[in-house]
Amino acid sequence: MDEITVIHKAREFVAAVNPIAIPVDVSAYASHLGAVIRRQTDLGKNESGWSFENRGKYYICVNAKDIGERQRFTVCHEIAHIVLGLPSDHKTLPSWSYAKKSREEILCDVFAAELLLPSKLFKPLADKELISFRTVGDLADRFEASLTATGSRFATVIGAPCAFVLSEKGNVRYTSRSLSLREANAWVHPRLGLPPGSVSARARAGEVCEGPEEIGAELWFSPWERGGILLEEARHFEQWDQTLTLLWFEDEEVPPLKSKQEEEEEEWGIKELDGILPWPGRKRRK
Ligand SMILES: [Zn+2]
Repeated sequence: MDEITVIHKAREFVAAVNPIAIPVDVSAYASHLGAVIRRQTDLGKNESGWSFENRGKYYICVNAKDIGERQRFTVCHEIAHIVLGLPSDHKTLPSWSYAKKSREEILCDVFAAELLLPSKLFKPLADKELISFRTVGDLADRFEASLTATGSRFATVIGAPCAFVLSEKGNVRYTSRSLSLREANAWVHPRLGLPPGSVSARARAGEVCEGPEEIGAELWFSPWERGGILLEEARHFEQWDQTLTLLWFEDEEVPPLKSKQEEEEEEWGIKELDGILPWPGRKRRK
């Protein structure tokens, strides 16, 4: 099963329940499946939840000691296991960790984020705000969702070219991109180390990085022939060694592909004669 299929199924599910209020009522999602939510007090610290079927009825068990936002995500994650028919693999790692998370678990997280932050309610709000972690944080509060789930959905739904990257222990684990970046093949390689000099790498090293900074797009995207300057903002969470990154193009447009002639002009510096210095091309920076 691929991510597009999962997103499709999640949207069908959301459409069937048709939530209209923010934050969405996750118990309405469970009811739609005829599932019962049980809050368990005897689950371990890193156990968010599990589900089982008994005589044709589903039971979703969540850790009552988790914060409300986490419990809401767990309900939606368990619904994903049920709807997608994917087996769970919760034993090996705490639910927050992405370092060795199985593909099935990541797909269930993607499904869960679609349920918590449905396009119909979320996109209009995301589109009208400035791109920043502050905006993502405000939306996370309103939808009672985590910064990670909200950031991932934010980059996916907005019209502007934007990517959200989750890294753990300094390596990229998950990226979500807006349609415009997907169409331009702006690809952040999984398992890529945080690019040296990036805001994210510096935030992880303990530097205080306030607000977005300009950065060459080729630092994050590869292969990337379009040049351009990205804005990068990062948040680092020491307790999990997780780094969240927001990347977007300042003018909100993906730079067009350069013609051969333009590339050669940049290579040989012809354009510099008119006094306008072009942004250094990819080749020259090596
Ligand atoms: Zn799971």
